Amino acid sequence: MTRLVDLSPEAFAAHLTSLGRRRAYFVHDAGVVRSSHPEFAEIATHLLGDERDYHRHEGVFLEVGATTGALFGAFVHNTTRGQGQGGLRYWPYVDLASFLSDGLRLSHGMTRKSALAGLWWGGGKGLIARHIDHPYHDVGFRERLYTEYAGFVASLRGCYITAEDAGTGPADMAIVHRGTRFVTCTPPAVGGAGNPSPATAKGVVCAMEGALAHLGLGDLAGKKIVMQGTGNVGAAMIGELVQRRVGSILASELSPARREQLEREFAGAPLTVVPAEPGDNRILAEPCDILAPNALGGVLNPDTIPGIQARIVCGAANNQLLDDVRDGEALRARGIVYVPDFLCNRMGIVYCANEQYGIVPHDPAIERHYGREWDNAVFVVTRRALELAERENITSAAAANRLADALATEPHPIWGHRARAIITGLVADGWAG
Ligand code: NAD
Repeated sequence: MTRLVDLSPEAFAAHLTSLGRRRAYFVHDAGVVRSSHPEFAEIATHLLGDERDYHRHEGVFLEVGATTGALFGAFVHNTTRGQGQGGLRYWPYVDLASFLSDGLRLSHGMTRKSALAGLWWGGGKGLIARHIDHPYHDVGFRERLYTEYAGFVASLRGCYITAEDAGTGPADMAIVHRGTRFVTCTPPAVGGAGNPSPATAKGVVCAMEGALAHLGLGDLAGKKIVMQGTGNVGAAMIGELVQRRVGSILASELSPARREQLEREFAGAPLTVVPAEPGDNRILAEPCDILAPNALGGVLNPDTIPGIQARIVCGAANNQLLDDVRDGEALRARGIVYVPDFLCNRMGIVYCANEQYGIVPHDPAIERHYGREWDNAVFVVTRRALELAERENITSAAAANRLADALATEPHPIWGHRARAIITGLVADGWAG
């Protein structure tokens, strides 16, 4: 008999509908996972058995879009520090098991990223399973899809706060914003903070400085930087690095238009931008002081790590290590200092996390992350994590996780563990019908 988790997301959505249901939830309660309906108990067992990704998630919520038939997910990991926050990914999945494990892994990561950034948010993640038949470029379809997703988020009463992520953009968030207040990282036109990429770039550069200081290598002046990808973050990073008088920047980029634009914008700067093909990782083997993967995740793996000739790896891309443990160890064994991505690229979320409190020019709540005085600044936390790794003989990712996990146990100073009470209320009120 086929297990439910082996069904494709579309087949699972159709199955849910055939049972006369549109929703299901899985809630952690005293060491067990309770499912909304007995017929989904095997999914609860699957979640609890997923030792790599489950990590006692407070709640997992699923819904089938009323007219699109798309499968929606909201994953709420740990809300001790605040509501579960994390972007909405619109992505294809082969089966329900991979849909669930991606959501769990990403929301667990958001608990750590926000805690380490000192934000009063818990970890969450949103998913929409993208299907090949979805008319993705059809404006009407997207309008329906994100309106439905907004209704789903609204129904969760604020235990999960959504935002943009891979496969979704500001225009999609503007649609979501029309249907729920529980969304952040919205466009300025609806009162949001706007493009976070320059902030992300600046934060990564502060982390580079922290790593250089850790190694006693001084500041960025005169250093050789190699960069993969010069998109929104990479291009802004070039500006930051040029200001800090780096010796040279060698970058690779797929887009000819982007390469030409950068050559014009930085004429006279020590910048070389070389072409690359999709999946091309040759740039990672260029000798340098700092290597910045700024394109896609998974690029630090057994194929690339042996060729890396950098003292430090510090870039914006999410999930750079293909395997957190194996590839983190491999970098450490080669004496390469790796700054965990979720530590150095935090400013993307920091930039827009608190937009519900209004927008302030040169916001001190943001600026302090770039300094060196605040205990939680990017520079300071980078040094702390790298020192802990060295002292304890562990990878930098393990050290950053340890710091983040300790912070994640601190309750929100005003609201305490309120989102947990929201989830209890949803269950009591029969959210799944
Ligand atoms: P982007 O899509 O604007 O830029 C990525 C660039 O990389 C593109 O220009 C693309 O052409 C290029 N690229 C892709 N594959 C390449 C390859 N093999 N070789 C060379 N170039 C390649 O994305 P972005 O907003 O700049 O984000 C970059 C990374 O940082 C992503 O992984 C993103 O998830 C992560 N991130 C971004 C932010 C943010 O604020 N934008 C925040 C946190 C994390």
